[in-house]
Amino acid sequence: MDLQHWLGRATHAIQQWADTFGPYQQHPSLQVDDELFAAVFEEFTGRLQDNYPFFHPSYAGQMLKPPHPAAVVGYLTTMLINPNNHALDGGPATAHMEREVVARLAAMFGYDTHLGHLTTSGTIANLEALFVARELHPGRGIAYSQDAHYTHGRMCRVLGMEGHPVATDDRGRMDLDALEDLLRTGRVGTVVLTAGTTGLGAVDPIHEAVPLAQRHGVRIHVDAAYGGFFTLLAGADGPEGLPPEPWRAISRCDSVVVDPHKHGLQPYGCGAVLFRDPEVGRFYLHDSPYTYFTSAELHLGEISLECSRAGASAAALWLTFQIVPPTPDGLGTVLAAGRRAALKWVDLIDASDILEVYQRPELDIVSYFPTVEPASLSAIDTASARVLADGMTGPDPVFLSTLKADREAFTARHPKITADADGARILRSVLMKPEAEDHVERIHTRVEQLVRGR
Ligand SMILES: *Cc1c(COP(=O)(O)O)cnc(C)c1O
Repeated sequence: MDLQHWLGRATHAIQQWADTFGPYQQHPSLQVDDELFAAVFEEFTGRLQDNYPFFHPSYAGQMLKPPHPAAVVGYLTTMLINPNNHALDGGPATAHMEREVVARLAAMFGYDTHLGHLTTSGTIANLEALFVARELHPGRGIAYSQDAHYTHGRMCRVLGMEGHPVATDDRGRMDLDALEDLLRTGRVGTVVLTAGTTGLGAVDPIHEAVPLAQRHGVRIHVDAAYGGFFTLLAGADGPEGLPPEPWRAISRCDSVVVDPHKHGLQPYGCGAVLFRDPEVGRFYLHDSPYTYFTSAELHLGEISLECSRAGASAAALWLTFQIVPPTPDGLGTVLAAGRRAALKWVDLIDASDILEVYQRPELDIVSYFPTVEPASLSAIDTASARVLADGMTGPDPVFLSTLKADREAFTARHPKITADADGARILRSVLMKPEAEDHVERIHTRVEQLVRGR
């Protein structure tokens, strides 16, 4: 897609619409001198160069990549109008688009009924799910795995709820025996399961937790902020196919969060929360003296904790889904390439005598560390940090990230390591760009050179 062409068309289309309302004079206070702007813009674009090349396949670090061009065009075009999806009369078109994309997300997870909306982030989406959990089970707490996103512990404090971290197994998944012990105390109302942990991409055994939760009368919320779109690979043919059971079980859970701004090709500012039971809308009810005069339906602002929200986010996701729908043949092909890249790299690391896999990837996150002598946590920590730093400088840069693995987690996976520290940084690469598939050999070779110190 040629952005110059389409952004030109965008300003034209919105201007044509604006012209139908009749002429008016822009106030002098808002007029901009072109020469002044040129100078400021020069400085601005210069400052923006202080960034990492998130778009480039040699960036194999954190969960970062640019949005799809359709999302960029959708967002910028809509921003020229700047609708607010807080209420229907803040922008009817984008409010309707929001309902449509939310319905597609609900269908993707197999929800037959739903109430949901977009949010500014996965953090807010999870906060809403925990808020509803508290309203449904006042006085009872939340269980989440030790490897769950830190937002759950933090939001429990915000909501005045007890948070209960549950042990994980040697693949970073919630230990259901430990969960059951906790559920027997009666102190938990909702269990948070993670479908794709932020650190390693581990998927909790959702299908096994559902009957357990039912036996104990507790709810399940799935935090699929990172991994949600991987449900498109559940049961797929080929090496990228994922075991379908945990993903299919999401349809039986009470709520789910997914971040279109992570694996949904969107710019930041786009999370989503879905509840299976639309009745939970009653917890959001409020009277607003300012808004809501055009419809008798529940407005988006009446089912969300946030007030103002960019209608442009909904528009961007809507336009993207017209081109890359959330189906196995659409967005699924993007995730499949990253997943195959991860499997390919793991094979290369397995064959290497200077790198070792920390944990086999379940999704597209590869974790690994330099093989060092002596094989101790402190030596691995030093070597990983050096590879990270050296990788970013020099003629052929490669961008990785590090993850702190604590002593127990490390020795559970690699019992022969000398545990001379409380943990070690390891290397971590999120291969979320489909181009990674054709670049992992190069990245691998470069990382091997870095380990050897060349
Ligand atoms: C990223 C992430 C979050 C937080 O979402 P933001 O969009 O960064 O606010 C929560 N949970 C998981 C599993 C995540 O990966």
